[in-house]
Amino acid sequence: MKIKSTRFGYLAKAHDAEVGERQLQETLGDNEVLVHMQGQNLCTTDYQQWMGLREHQGYPMAGGHEGAGVVVEVGPNVKTVKPGDFIAMAHNESCGVCPQCRIGNDMDCENPRGLSAVSEDGYHGEFGFAQYKVVPERTLFRMNPDLTPAEAGFLEPVSTVVKGIKKLRLQPHETVVVVGAGTMGLVNAQVAKSYGARVIVSELMENKLETARKSGFETIDSGKEDVVERVKELTDGKMADCVILAVANKIVLDQSVDLIKHLDGRILVFAAGYPAPHTDLDSNLIHYRRIEIIGTFGSNMVDYADAAMLLNTRAIDVRPMCEPKQFDLDHIQDAFAAASTPGMYRVHVTIPE
Ligand SMILES: [Zn+2]
Ligand SMILES: [Zn+2]
Repeated sequence: MKIKSTRFGYLAKAHDAEVGERQLQETLGDNEVLVHMQGQNLCTTDYQQWMGLREHQGYPMAGGHEGAGVVVEVGPNVKTVKPGDFIAMAHNESCGVCPQCRIGNDMDCENPRGLSAVSEDGYHGEFGFAQYKVVPERTLFRMNPDLTPAEAGFLEPVSTVVKGIKKLRLQPHETVVVVGAGTMGLVNAQVAKSYGARVIVSELMENKLETARKSGFETIDSGKEDVVERVKELTDGKMADCVILAVANKIVLDQSVDLIKHLDGRILVFAAGYPAPHTDLDSNLIHYRRIEIIGTFGSNMVDYADAAMLLNTRAIDVRPMCEPKQFDLDHIQDAFAAASTPGMYRVHVTIPE
């Protein structure tokens, strides 16, 4: 390969993001692609580890899985991308041939290529914050060059939302309440809208409410208004067909059953909370009201393909969830600090060649 080594960002320990340098492999495999990462968004899993909340993920952590870049060089059998293509990549380690992959459930691949394994030089993670990295062709999606790297970096989060919306079996005539207008709440709201649903967003932080309003959603200020009463008013007493929980705490979990219609309402549990929230939900209520509580986490390649189309056609618009202030790789520590500030949307780290 023409590029021999790369600089990369990683977490040495909590509150300590650093930049290192490492050698790249000498040659590309048949179906491998060398990519210049132009930038990487900081996911909650990234910055919560920086904050010391997800230390079980291990150190040193060379994370980052919400990036976009440009193809530099391709292996001899690569057919779907060429040098110069603008791409984003799936956080997917599937083999493509095991039974789980064959039924389309490739996120549960039986022979994962070990993205979560420790690298030979001792790092966890997949080197998202590297200038250059080698990736399998099958994880790459060509992105619309009109998108910025920060927007294209939404491929992975949008794919997880697409997966959730499919599990929710959302219909175009339905009303959905999205609880939480952080990045993932608004991505859920955008994707739900693109599926044709009426979307009401509930949130208590003023700046997030404002972003939700500007994005064209009906909003409820849960700090000032009674959310249940407000949903009742907005739906003429029918309540929502479903609720998407994009924040995780006991209050919203317990309240979610009061936001949905009397019978056959659905609740999608999209978010995780640390420490894990518990609920006092009455199981008779779930039984008699035929409530569905649906969990979702991760996504399959088919969801990435759908997400790429939603982004590439601008059927969804993630620009409101991109923080305007960006940080270059040398200031990755400042980027983590910014991302950890309450009320922030996705913070982007630009990675120069
Ligand atoms: Zn992520
Ligand atoms: Zn597999």
